[in-house]
Amino acid sequence: MDSNLKVNLLDLDKAGLEAFFSELGEKPFRASQVLKWIYQFGVRDFNSMSNLSKSLREKLIEIAEVRPPEMLSEHRSHDGTIKWVLKLDEKNCIETVFIPEADRGTLCISSQVGCALDCRFCSTAQQGFNRNLTVSEIIGQLWVANQAMGCQPREQRMISNIVLMGMGEPLLNFDNVIKAISLMLEDDAYGLSKRRVTLSTSGVVPAMNRLKEVSDVSLAVSLHAPNDELRNEIVPLNQKYPIKELMQACKNYIADEPRRKITFEYVMLEGINDSRQDALALAKLLKNIPSKVNLIPFNPFPNTNYRCSSQEKIDAFRDVLIAKGLTTITRKTRGEDIDAACGQLAGQVMDRTKRKLRRDSGGITR
Ligand code: SAH
Repeated sequence: MDSNLKVNLLDLDKAGLEAFFSELGEKPFRASQVLKWIYQFGVRDFNSMSNLSKSLREKLIEIAEVRPPEMLSEHRSHDGTIKWVLKLDEKNCIETVFIPEADRGTLCISSQVGCALDCRFCSTAQQGFNRNLTVSEIIGQLWVANQAMGCQPREQRMISNIVLMGMGEPLLNFDNVIKAISLMLEDDAYGLSKRRVTLSTSGVVPAMNRLKEVSDVSLAVSLHAPNDELRNEIVPLNQKYPIKELMQACKNYIADEPRRKITFEYVMLEGINDSRQDALALAKLLKNIPSKVNLIPFNPFPNTNYRCSSQEKIDAFRDVLIAKGLTTITRKTRGEDIDAACGQLAGQVMDRTKRKLRRDSGGITR
């Protein structure tokens, strides 16, 4: 059978896998067994799945496969950060980044090829957008990273946390992202706790409300500005979902969980959003929302006019927020030497929006 016609089991969440086995006349527990082989032992080859009957193994070889994205290259930063470029198809590549820290290892994964939003300070945005990632392309990033780092059994895993902070807007690829998240949390698959999986959104309000209905992972919101005037400009999605609605959706997300907080990301852009007034306005805005603020030093990329605020400015901004009672940390820039830092992920995108073309020829001004 042609490989393209085979079912890629990485595309199925547990419920999907149970349905798949039931169609084959098998019991649902086969789903648990196969999930463990794939995600806990990193096994792709059905012949090695020794607790399946011989006839089932033969059937699976015929009709199914475990096909993660292909790793094209690996880049290691002097600070321990690793970036992988993964090939999805002839025209599209994405990037996945592993960030080791003393007490955790975080994998930053992508959800789309490029991004349809147009945040002014983000290099993924400059690439334009091609398509959503499939479930196998999302969960496959964990699978490939685990393989590449040579760790399979749970206790040896280096990946303790996942952040959906790579390329793309995860809430605009809702269904696939939710399925992939369910595999991250599923005990038979990666078994991570919901506190260790963070979805970051630029503020797609209706999808934030939907997310609450189906999942309870940690939420990070790319705020970047304390008022609509500025946010309309640097995060154009704000024109559709202004700050007031965004804040309401944030409150709603954590409403029935007293100890939870929303993480607000705030990129530090020199002379744009880094004044004392901005800090005071931000503190006021977040006063009634259980929150943590993550200040992100702006990472430059080719052809950007923005610059990162000075360290003194960032520290002063942080101090205002802390004085107002907000938990605030400045995110350390990691993997800069391999273009793996926030907003630097570019991959290779066949841009269907032609944004890059228009921009390069001076068509886009704003
Ligand atoms: N689309 C989602 C997921 C991307 S997360 C979102 O917007 O939240 C990546 C984070 O890095 C976001 O907070 C994004 O705003 C921030 N970012 C983008 N470009 C950046 C840059 N050049 N320097 C620093 N942070 C950047």
